[in-house]
Amino acid sequence: MPARPFDLAVVGSGIVGLAHAYVAARAGRRVVVIDRDPRANGASIRNFGFITVTGQARGDSWRLARRTRDVWAEVAPAAGIRVEQTGLLLTARSPEAVTVIEAFLATEMGDGCGWLSAAQFRERAAGLGAPDLMGALASPHELRVESRTAIPLLAAYLRERLGVDFMTETVAFEVAPPRTVTSRGTVHAAQTVVCPGDDFVTLFGDRIAAHALRRCRLSMLKLADPGLRLPSALMSDLSLARYRGYADLPEARALEARLRAELPSSFDHGVHLIVAQGADGGLIVGDSHHYADLPEPFAPAEAEREILAEFGRATGRPPPAVLERWTGVYAVADDRTYLIDAPDPNVRIVIVTSGTGASTSFGLAERVIGELCDLKEAARP
Ligand SMILES: Cc1cc2nc3c(=O)[nH]c(=O)nc-3n(C[C@H](O)[C@H](O)[C@H](O)COP(=O)(O)OP(=O)(O)OC[C@H]3O[C@@H](n4cnc5c(N)ncnc54)[C@H](O)[C@@H]3O)c2cc1C
Repeated sequence: MPARPFDLAVVGSGIVGLAHAYVAARAGRRVVVIDRDPRANGASIRNFGFITVTGQARGDSWRLARRTRDVWAEVAPAAGIRVEQTGLLLTARSPEAVTVIEAFLATEMGDGCGWLSAAQFRERAAGLGAPDLMGALASPHELRVESRTAIPLLAAYLRERLGVDFMTETVAFEVAPPRTVTSRGTVHAAQTVVCPGDDFVTLFGDRIAAHALRRCRLSMLKLADPGLRLPSALMSDLSLARYRGYADLPEARALEARLRAELPSSFDHGVHLIVAQGADGGLIVGDSHHYADLPEPFAPAEAEREILAEFGRATGRPPPAVLERWTGVYAVADDRTYLIDAPDPNVRIVIVTSGTGASTSFGLAERVIGELCDLKEAARP
């Protein structure tokens, strides 16, 4: 139990909490991070580690993602985190998908992105691609890290290089600056940022309840090394009807109607495809989306079959053997991509409500810490 007073307490050591600790510590603040688990075990280590710019909702989220990508590019080498892949390849297997990509490329979000013919895609994607492939969107903006190792490395970097204190196996159950009451005693911190992920009840339950948040459960797989190397993460046509940067474009309506008719079960299970590859060659593949106030722990096998079927449709190859299966849960809201609430002048609640925390957290943290701590230099973007 650290006796000294802190400038900032951060509740939650997922990527959102770590990003706030990073920005505050870099600005010279004395920071303590509090988490109930001995090490990160939530959404932040269960995801693809896909730091996505292209496809984020137009405007604010897209700008936050660009900034977050830039911070990851700085912090990853400093923290010993390997960038496993860069960029994105997204297949188009119908004229409707081609039209959505063309419309996307004509917006400001298409900056730096381009169209690949089917032959160019195959060259970039180690020969992958089904016979009906018409071409692909290529984006240079993305980074991909292996979250299960990257998040602990980021925490170690904060602790060892930036002097951040960590209180693990500690529940924070009352925040009233300058005191944060925990299961291990009272922490003295002038300000507190609460980054609780999908814990909507332990702190400020009434405030969070007012925003009618729900949860989304996702199914994920690790597949065996296919014997090839993908320089970029891979997505498929279904993503054009799900990621808001594409799906909000009017041209996406025709594609969505076609895909709903052709692949009704994929839509029932909220399936789209991301294929990410790590240093061991294994493929992190997903995902499905099931929404509820409290998603049941029972992940339907049908969703997994749909994910693997889309892998086959997008790559033209049978999926390699399944090595691991897991589910993850994140917070969702119908009306916002993130929630920042101020229950007290010295407290902020920060919850990413769109399944984009790896991609937006550093940008969000700069905004929150810049305003809370009155740091002019951090008040971007
Ligand atoms: C399967 C899956 C795939 C995803 N893929 C991507 C992706 O590729 N790219 C992307 O950008 N995003 C992705 N996301 C979303 C992203 O992972 C989340 O938005 C992000 O991890 C949320 O981070 P967080 O820190 O808010 O939550 P979490 O990682 O859940 O961390 C919250 C932490 O707070 C702690 N906590 C809560 N309340 C208290 C308390 N009172 N006291 C002590 N500790 C407390 C918990 O123990 C937990 O460790 C994915 C999510 C999932 C589940």
